[in-house]
Parts: sequence; C-alpha cells; structure tokens
Amino acid sequence: MTIKDLEIGQTARIDEVGGEGALRQHFLDMGVIPGAEVTLVRLAPMGDPMELRIHGYELTLRLADADQIQATLLEKQQEQNSDKKTKHDIAHPGLGEEGKFHPKGSGNPLPKGELLTFALVGNQNSGKTTLFNQLTGSNQHVGNFPGVTVDRKDGAIRGKENTSITDLPGIYSMSPYSSEELVSRDFVLNEKPKAIINIVDATNMERNLYLTMQLLEMNVPMVVALNMMDELRGNGGSVDINRMEMMLGVPVVPISAAKNEGIDELVAHALHIARYQERPQVDDFCDENDHGGAVHRCIHAVIHLIEDHAKRASLPVRFAAAKAIEKDEQMIARLQLDDNEIETLEHITKQMEKERGLDRSAAMADMRFSFIGKVCDECVIKPRESKEHLRSQRIDRWLTGKYTAIPIFIGVMALVFFLTFNVIGAWLQGLLETGIGALSDVVDAALTAADVNETVHELVIGGIFEGVGSVLSFLPIIVTMFFFLSILEDSGYIARVAFFMDKMLRRIGLSGRSIVPLLIGFGCTVPAVMSTRTLPSDRDRKMTILLTPFMSCTAKLPIYTFFVAAFFPGRGWMVITLLYFTGIVLGIFAALFFKKVRFKGEAVPFVMELPNYRLPSARNVVQLLWEKAKDFLTRAFTVIFLATVIVWVLQSFDTHLNLVSDQKDSILAMISGWLVPIFAPIGLGDWRICTSLISGFMAKESVVSVLEVLFGGGVSTAMSTLTASCLLVFSLLYTPCVAAIASIKREMGAKWAVCVVLWQCAVAWLAAGVVYLVGTLFFA
Ligand code: GDP
Ligand code: MG
Repeated sequence: MTIKDLEIGQTARIDEVGGEGALRQHFLDMGVIPGAEVTLVRLAPMGDPMELRIHGYELTLRLADADQIQATLLEKQQEQNSDKKTKHDIAHPGLGEEGKFHPKGSGNPLPKGELLTFALVGNQNSGKTTLFNQLTGSNQHVGNFPGVTVDRKDGAIRGKENTSITDLPGIYSMSPYSSEELVSRDFVLNEKPKAIINIVDATNMERNLYLTMQLLEMNVPMVVALNMMDELRGNGGSVDINRMEMMLGVPVVPISAAKNEGIDELVAHALHIARYQERPQVDDFCDENDHGGAVHRCIHAVIHLIEDHAKRASLPVRFAAAKAIEKDEQMIARLQLDDNEIETLEHITKQMEKERGLDRSAAMADMRFSFIGKVCDECVIKPRESKEHLRSQRIDRWLTGKYTAIPIFIGVMALVFFLTFNVIGAWLQGLLETGIGALSDVVDAALTAADVNETVHELVIGGIFEGVGSVLSFLPIIVTMFFFLSILEDSGYIARVAFFMDKMLRRIGLSGRSIVPLLIGFGCTVPAVMSTRTLPSDRDRKMTILLTPFMSCTAKLPIYTFFVAAFFPGRGWMVITLLYFTGIVLGIFAALFFKKVRFKGEAVPFVMELPNYRLPSARNVVQLLWEKAKDFLTRAFTVIFLATVIVWVLQSFDTHLNLVSDQKDSILAMISGWLVPIFAPIGLGDWRICTSLISGFMAKESVVSVLEVLFGGGVSTAMSTLTASCLLVFSLLYTPCVAAIASIKREMGAKWAVCVVLWQCAVAWLAAGVVYLVGTLFFA
C-alpha cells in the first residue's frame, strides 16, 4: 500500500520513498524516510492534501505525492510509553563553570576589536524572528541578499560592541531545494561568519536537529539555542543539556525567546565560541556499527577522496563529502573533481547503496536521523502529550474542519478588513487627518503673515500639504492591516490557510503556498513579489508574481476610500469588497490563461509543516509594523513627494515656462491630452484623470492627491458616479506602481516587467470598458 491509502487515525511504517530529484530530497530532509512511522491526521476540507503526523510533528502532503510513498500498515498499538525515563530536573553548566567547551583563557582569541559576525540559522517557526528581535532590539537593518530577493536582516547584539548578527531565512536543510536554502548555505560557505547561532525548537527536536547536523558538518564555531523550553518544561519534559553538548560537541543553551529566558547566557556563549573560534568537537555522526557500517565507510572513503579538492575550494570537507554522496550537482561542480574521481565517487556510493539497501539520499538521511534518534533517546525526556499540541488539535477541528474551514477563513478575512477599514484604521485615520489639517492651517497662516511669494505659498499648501497630507493619513490603515496579517502569520493560521486552499489553488495551476504571497498582495505588491521566494519552483514563483497585481494593494485603498466616501456613502465597505473580489476573479481568469499559454505543467509539490498554534509575540508584531510603516513613509516622502511637486510644476507652467492662469494651458494638460483619445472609450476621457493615472504609476497613493489638486478639491462634484466607477475599476487593475515593477524586474527581468505594465493596462482598459458599457446601457 501507499500512504495515500491510509484512513484517518491509521499508522503505517514507510518502506520506500519514490519520486526523484529535489522533491524527493526534500521529503527525506523533512523526515519522510524509510522506517519512519506516519499517522494520517486529517484530509483538507476539499479532500486533498493530507495532514500527517511524523516524528512528532504535522506535515502536509498531496495525495499524488503520498501515492509515491510505499508503506506497511501497522496494527493499532498502544501508544508507546515514553516514560522509560522519569522527569527530573537536570542542571546544566552555567557560563561561570564553562564546562568542556570553553577551555578557559587558553586558546588564541581573535584580536580585540575584530567584528564578530554571527549567522542565525534555524527551521521555520522555530522562533527565529523572536530571538533575533530579542538579540538586537530595534537596532536592525533590513535588506536583501545580493542577487536574490530573500530578506536579509542584520543587527548588532544589544550592548555588545563589534558584533553583527545576520538573520538567515528559515530552512529545513542545506540541500539546494529552495533559494532560501541556497542563500543560507552560500552565506555560511562564502561569507564565513565567525560563528553560527543555531536555533532549535525543543518541542520538535527530531526534525530540527537534522539541520543542526548539517551545520555541524560545516565546521564553523556554533552554539545551539534550544528554544521553546518553556513549552517543553510546562508539559513535563526536560533535556539533559550536558549530555547533549557531549554528543553534539557544541555548547547548548536552553532558552525561551518569547519569555526572554536564557538570552544573556546564549549571548555569552556565542561571543565566547566566536572569539576563541571553538569549532564543533564532533563531526562524525555515522556509526560504524549501524547497518554494517556501509554509510560510515562510504562517507569516510569519500572524505579522503575529495580532501584536497575541498581544501582548494575552501569547503568544509565533511560537508562537501556528504553533499557529493547525495549527488548535489552544485557542490560537485565546486569541488572540480576529475573524471576518475567522479567515477570513483560513483563506485563508492553504488557499493554503499547495495550494502545498505537504500539509495544514496535515503541512506544519508537515515544516517542523520539515526544519530538524532540516539541524541533524543539519551538527552530528551519527552512529555507524554503537549498541551499546545492538544490545543492545536482542538482548534484545528474548527479552523481546518471539513465544513468550517472556509467559512471561518472568509469570516476572519472579512473581520480583518472590517476592523481595518471601518473601525480601528478609520479611527486612527481621522485622528491623523485632524492633526494634518491643523498643521496645514498653522503653516497657511504663517505664510500669509510672512507675505511669502504667491507661487511658493501655493506649492506648500496646495501641492505639498494637500498631496502628501492626504497620503499620510492612510498610514493608519496600512499599519492596522499589517497588524492583523502579522498576527495571523505568527500564530500559525496562515500555514493552515495554505493547507486547505491548496486544492483550490492547484486548479489554477498554483500550490497552496502561493496563497501567502497573494494574501500579502492585499497589503503591498512589493513584499508580495518578494515573498514568492519561498516558493520552491521557478514556475510557481513567476506565475504568483504575475497574479499579485490583481490583489488590490493597500496603496489603492486611498483611491477606493476617497471615491467610495464621495459616491457611495453608507455602502463603502460593500463596494470595496466588490472591487477586491473583482480583482480576485479576474486574477483567476488570468491564471487559467497563463496556465494554458505560458506555464504549462503541474504546480510544485506541497510539503509543509503545520506548526502548533502559538501566541504571537507583541514585540515581533510591533517590529513588523515599524518596518512596514517606515517603508511606507520613505516611499511617501520620496516618490510621492517628488511626484506631487513635479506634477505641480508641470501643471502650473506652460511650455514656455510661464505661470499659467488656467490649468488647461499647462504642460501636463498637453501630455495628458494626447492620452485622452485612448481613455475616452472607457469613460475616462478627461486630461485631469489621465494626469492622475500617470502619477499613480509612480505611487498609487498619489492618484487621489493629484486629482484633488487638479480639480481644485472638487472631485466629488465634478465627476459622475459612472466615471468614478470606471476609474475605480481601472485603478484596481492597471499597472502596479514603480516600486512594485522594480521588484518584479528584480525577480523576473526587465522584459517581464515591461510586459506586466502593458498587460495590466490592457486588462484594466478592457474591464473599465465593460463597466462603462454596462453603465451607459442600463443606468444612464
Ligand atoms: P520563525 O518563523 O522562526 O521566525 O518564528 P517566530 O519567531 O515568528 O515564532 C513563531 C511563533 O512561536 C510566534 O508566535 C512566537 O511568539 C512563538 N515563540 C517564539 N519563541 C517562543 C518560545 O520560546 N516559547 C513559546 N511558547 N513561544 C515562542
Ligand atoms: Mg519569522
């Protein structure tokens, strides 16, 4: 049988993992290896994918993939009693005692003043962001890894001079399965941080230590931060830290990032190992007695075979050997083996496969998991059942339940939008608007009193205050939106959404994971495009990027809220919801079109962890809000400010650079006049509207401010409801702003970026045309 044939609650032992290539490697890395036991927890509401329990955590798998995994059904058996060891608290060495791993004072410390660089590496959902925020405080710099758009955060450790810690993306292994894994691996190999801080989720040790072992192979000074100890302890679990340090050969520090426990000790250890360059003292995890020692002999043979090459390529030899055995093309290329050596490598590996009875990847994964098994057996006293897991299961009965999942999801999203646009965000917005209005009045009075030149006065009040002021007042909505989104993400709900939306998204040729970038697209297209990096296939990434412009971003909200307030009073949120859904529906059509025409083939497999529900940390949420607000403000005060001023200049002068008395004579009117014939058939044939749409390309927020300037504040009286509707639909769909196009260009190249601009404009033109036609036929 295969895993697909399991019934809910049944357990099976995996015999063979089928499939091939990167996906199969990913299965193995996630712990889906021969010998592992899996239990089917539930099927997604739409019947696919399935949720499995393996190595004590929840994994999602599509039925088609599950069908490739052979397994034997196990008889219903009593839960194995794991209390062979009873709970007792085990002290671990404090820093003062320093223990085995810190040869006090001996050794050669790095020169004082040398920058100690750290890489923070860990699985997704292990608490990495929480720890990073604890370590660095607000002292962070967000950027990009060169060449790819994977977020890179740097910061100095609080109160420690000459330190710099880099937050690497959350990954499960060092195989080049996704760009995240590649980035992390290249960072450690090429940028050579002085030390690694490896964060491990103590409640999920089996899977987390898999990455730890690959990190140990890299032979960089390392300290393991055992996170979530509060949860483990709370459930009666415990870890023999001393024993674990012995087995792993690196310092292990129990912490709770969320509760700020053990952080100081972690920092002290990290600084110490970095300064004294204490490398891991154990790197030989393959046991010569394990299944006849085939894997052990193979690894050591390959180590000797490639030793000189690894040294020349300055790669850690054990890591390079492991990757060479796994047939990691990139690593083999870097080693520059000659034909003979490649052949020898192949022979050695083949022999191992034959003796071990498993193929190379499975054998290596199995070797790692058997070591981890030993570590866990000896060091970890597992709680029988964790409160958090039980709680998650209870919650999931509803949130991923067959009939409840999707209604609840719709409800949650509706609530988020309602609270953002009608309650909290709107309230904050009013507050800020009042403030800006007051400030504008004060400046106006001051300028009049100082008898400032008329033109400058007009620019300041008419251009800058009206324009930027109206944009700024939307900041509260953006912040509120991200407040809710970050809570949903951190609590673990978004992962569930990806799980039960998978089948639906697959219909349009995507995977459930794409729901995350698409959802973020409702916030801002820029991070949405960037977050497609988590998708492991180029095809899915490109397609998701092309769909994000259909997800109405928050920058378009100023346009919606403005027109809705003016033309659809009292029905505001209904019209806005309708707009959002129009975007989604057209996005679906676009996806089907792309699938047929450009991106044939199947979506990537869907292998994902469903973490326990956890309380989001306030600090993380605040940090994220701060980042988003900062990002928005920089854009508002650079791009939009400039756009407003340029538009004001173009609009105030004629081609002879004389001040115009009537805006009809301005340069901008002339430029926009050329566009009027194009926009006339869709009811937008007004040069002022064309002008605002042009400036909207620089930043969507400025459409309203420019309209306000051009119509002299009388937009709501100058336009008909039909024109407003056409404009709404056109702004919903036409080209994303410059910043978004720039990030699309980074991901997909200039050609694609230009295509997106033209394609979105064409779609918008057609859609607005339909609205205009229907409007004139039935309502005029
Ligand atoms: P990341 O995906 O690795 O960046 O993980 P996050 O830092 O976003 O944390 C995931 C969730 O775990 C958040 O809801 C955190 O509040 C929570 N969390 C992080 N560290 C701890 C901890 O030490 N104890 C507990 N109970 N929860 C934690
Ligand atoms: Mg995170």
